[in-house]
Amino acid sequence: MPKAIIIGAGIAGIATAIRLAINNFEVDVYESNNYPGGKLSQFEQDGYRFDAGPSLFTMPQYVDELFELAGKNPKRCFEYEKLEEVCRYFWDDKTRFTAYADVDKFAKEIEKNTNSTQQEIKGFLKNSETIYDIAHEVFLEKSLHLLKTYTNINTAKSFLRFAKIDAFRTMAKANQSFFTDAKMQQYANRFATYNGSNPYQAPATLNVIPHLEQNFGAYFPKNGMFDITLSLVRLAEELGVKFYYNKRVDEIIIDEKKVKGIKIGDEKILADVVVSNMDVYFTYKRLLKEQAQPQKILKQERSSSALIFYWGVKKEFPELGLHNIFFSDNYQEEFNHLFKTKTIYQDPTVYINISSKFKTNDAPKGCENWFTMINVPNNIGQNWEVFKAGARANIIKKINRNLNIDLESLIETESVLDPVLIESKTSSYKGSLYGTSSNGQFAAFLRHANFSKKIKNLYFVGGSVHPGGGIPLALLSAKIVARMIKKE
Ligand code: FAD
Repeated sequence: MPKAIIIGAGIAGIATAIRLAINNFEVDVYESNNYPGGKLSQFEQDGYRFDAGPSLFTMPQYVDELFELAGKNPKRCFEYEKLEEVCRYFWDDKTRFTAYADVDKFAKEIEKNTNSTQQEIKGFLKNSETIYDIAHEVFLEKSLHLLKTYTNINTAKSFLRFAKIDAFRTMAKANQSFFTDAKMQQYANRFATYNGSNPYQAPATLNVIPHLEQNFGAYFPKNGMFDITLSLVRLAEELGVKFYYNKRVDEIIIDEKKVKGIKIGDEKILADVVVSNMDVYFTYKRLLKEQAQPQKILKQERSSSALIFYWGVKKEFPELGLHNIFFSDNYQEEFNHLFKTKTIYQDPTVYINISSKFKTNDAPKGCENWFTMINVPNNIGQNWEVFKAGARANIIKKINRNLNIDLESLIETESVLDPVLIESKTSSYKGSLYGTSSNGQFAAFLRHANFSKKIKNLYFVGGSVHPGGGIPLALLSAKIVARMIKKE
């Protein structure tokens, strides 16, 4: 039986382990933390449970597929429900609307609460679907770094319709043409943050993202986001995968341009195939120090990071849903701060996720668990203590303004995650959430490939490599890699 080693038990590492075990590999996963999931983890504090990282679950079919491949009924192994309400949006001038999953209901809601029409939102979502139809097979489900991807008939068809993916203007520019109301432009531009990018720089191709959330749907795992990790680890273990925690891999052993295994301290562990789920930047800088470094790729601009306040709030808010956004008064200025001056805007867009709305035991009775997040620049050594104090005060002021409350007096427990901690907990370069940013037309082609062009049997999965960050894409990277290994 051939042996595979996976470095890292992030969601992409776990998915790769499952796929390789199904393909009859003996699979060992080495994880530096004492828990699986990487960014997709959880913690409990003073009677509250918090999902620590991702809160929005889209494309559940990529999780289901793993159970199906193993001959199991996904519904029995991992339960989730489709959200009728995708997100609630708030502005300081009291404009509010809810994005309903039902498109007609959503369109009516837009017309009622903004100056945009039902046709505008429907046209926008239709365009999003068109981009997806043209781009998903080539850009998301295949390696962009193999010649055969480009000699395939479907790729040729996609390239014939290339103009429609809108790669030559920015998202912000395109969204001005979709919506008359500036607030709706802001709503549409926000989707750039789903992969840590800047809508004033990123190509309008990123307008594909609303299709995933609004047309395919947003979901909630019945036992919280961390259940994605737990149920997949369970499946992997049932398939014979062995997980080793508190094991930080120090080196990938290479001999004559071929991978031989890994080193942890002085211990050598041999394998036929090594898959790194560690951020590709640190894979090269720490585990492949002696090897040639793909400098151009490693220097790509990183995605933004996040500052999160996990608050136990001793009150319930019927006006809030599972996902809530409180928009900044000047979006362009907010993004200039994020990507140009690398600071935090004084009126940041605030996202509040409250899983206790669905999973009621995530908070004590009468209380709510607020995952309160703003986008922040990636870490280049800013003074985060000063930034955090300023941002915390501004966030609280903004929520107080919008909900007419005194939030400080309601917070009974608090924990904070910042870019420095994100980097140290998951080895993500600069604490970026989604690997490299998509702030350029060719960003998709500049992500690191899922395999090494120089070292045989060395592969890469996860948010820092092709096809990019976010749970669905991380799961797709595992699919691409498992397919490649199977073919070899
Ligand atoms: P990671 O989760 O980064 O896992 C990598 C693993 O490798 C870690 O466990 C790390 O400890 C381990 N490791 C690193 N180095 C070593 C070593 N030397 N030896 C052994 N192990 C090592 N995505 C969404 O889809 N929806 C969201 O709502 C969303 N929100 C997010 C919010 C936050 C705050 C964050 C941080 C991310 C969010 N994301 C979201 C992005 C998503 O979490 C990631 O894209 C995805 O989880 C990345 O998974 P991964 O497998 O690539 O890597």
